[in-house]
Amino acid sequence: MPIGRVILAGAGPGDPRLITTGALDALASAEVVVYDRLVSPAILAKAPERAEMIDVGKVPGSQKATQALINEVLIAKAKAGKVVVRLKGGDPYVFGRGGEEALALLDAGVPFEVIPGVTAGVAVSASAGIPVTHRGLASCVTFITGHEDPTKPESDLNYSALAATGGTLVFYMGVRQLGSIASRLMAAGLSGETPAACIQSGTTPSQRSIRETLADLAQKAADAHMEPPAITVVGAVAGLPGALNVFEARPLFGRRIVNTRPEGQAVALAESLGELGAEVISLPTIETRRLPRSAEADGVFQSLGRYHWLIFTSPTAVEFFFERMAELSLDARALQTARVACIGPATSDALSKRSILPDFRPAHFDGESLVQEIAPCDIRGRKVLLPRSDIARKELREGLERLGAEVTDLALYRTITHAEPPAEALRRVRRGDGDIVTFTSSSTVEGFVEIVGREALDGLKDKVSYASIGPVTSATMRLLGLDVSVEAKEHTAAGLVQAIVDFAARR
Ligand code: SAH
Repeated sequence: MPIGRVILAGAGPGDPRLITTGALDALASAEVVVYDRLVSPAILAKAPERAEMIDVGKVPGSQKATQALINEVLIAKAKAGKVVVRLKGGDPYVFGRGGEEALALLDAGVPFEVIPGVTAGVAVSASAGIPVTHRGLASCVTFITGHEDPTKPESDLNYSALAATGGTLVFYMGVRQLGSIASRLMAAGLSGETPAACIQSGTTPSQRSIRETLADLAQKAADAHMEPPAITVVGAVAGLPGALNVFEARPLFGRRIVNTRPEGQAVALAESLGELGAEVISLPTIETRRLPRSAEADGVFQSLGRYHWLIFTSPTAVEFFFERMAELSLDARALQTARVACIGPATSDALSKRSILPDFRPAHFDGESLVQEIAPCDIRGRKVLLPRSDIARKELREGLERLGAEVTDLALYRTITHAEPPAEALRRVRRGDGDIVTFTSSSTVEGFVEIVGREALDGLKDKVSYASIGPVTSATMRLLGLDVSVEAKEHTAAGLVQAIVDFAARR
């Protein structure tokens, strides 16, 4: 059997975007992934589904897997012919025992590669607004392990030498030993007034940081309950203006926002909330299912040329409509001269991706506005086709009929409560982990109430704020007993994000 190989790869400091493309490529080719506790689930999710995932994470205090055992696993899997990716937080050769693993592989005659990573000492400092070197303040930086047995009378570290560098000192793994680190540095001659910072979970939505003097750092870190993983930065650079910490100053930083949109449509909203600093908890509460074909619906598609207007109310309707056209071997010419209207920019985008530029779009993105604004546009006596969900609201149809249109509802899909909402997200929401829950349609509200359950919802009353995309969604929220704390002025995902930013600024 041909021997496999091991790729020792760095996963970066926490933010899943800070893994290198090299490490991602390696991950994509992995047959076995051996990973540490600090590697984010979002990165692990990039491994192929068929890859064997082996967790060798060590929780501080309880050794889950010894280093010897990890080495054995790497060697055994590679010798069994597998491509093994050994994923480590940060850089594999910075306090990661990557060097020991490489030596063991060398010894065993197992081929290996190393893909460097972005190390926490540099990245976490930067994320908290601290450049580790700075002209005039620090012309060197030292990475130090703070993880030493605190009962040891003699440290292996030469604190006098550290105190004398005149540059930046970055301690990894030292948050539980801060008191002894600070006093040893001061005993070695560093002033108690030296600026110092401690940063927990850097580069992630739960980043926290404190800036103090060296003398006060340990006490303040204890008061703030700073926990691993954290780094400590000592030196003049930690005294640069706190305003450099733009990461934590983002408008939604520290907010945990629940996104209830179905999977495919959730991305844009989640991305903009994430870019503004929020931690997004994805709890899709509904899913859409295509309805089976029927002779009646097929008949409508076969005679699309009869319709004067096609009105699309959501990107989902556009998607299912064109999917069905393709199934029936119809191309865009089947629409003939029908005019096309749509509600909202996302629906308009979905149409333009199919080379259809809508003839009509109401200024406000709801059915009521569409009816009002389309009235002067040659609608009386015209045949209108409404491709949408089979449980769509009647109001749009009735409004168009009042204008004298002849409306055909074309049911293409059904929106149902999500059958298997992600368990961890659901647990977090029930616990009150989310500060703000977003709703982009009435069905997301209904799905949410059903999934989370009445009892849990009552318990969340004072903990959670509910945000709505517009008046129709808000009405459903009130009907189901959810207070509307935020309502978007513009009824789009972007409008909802803006309303949440304004709300967060007031609180
Ligand atoms: N190989 C890793 C370090 C592993 S040692 C690297 O290059 O970054 C683990 C220590 O790294 C933690 O105890 C902590 O001191 C630091 N660390 C890793 N990720 C961190 C993060 N997101 N925020 C703060 N410190 C972090």
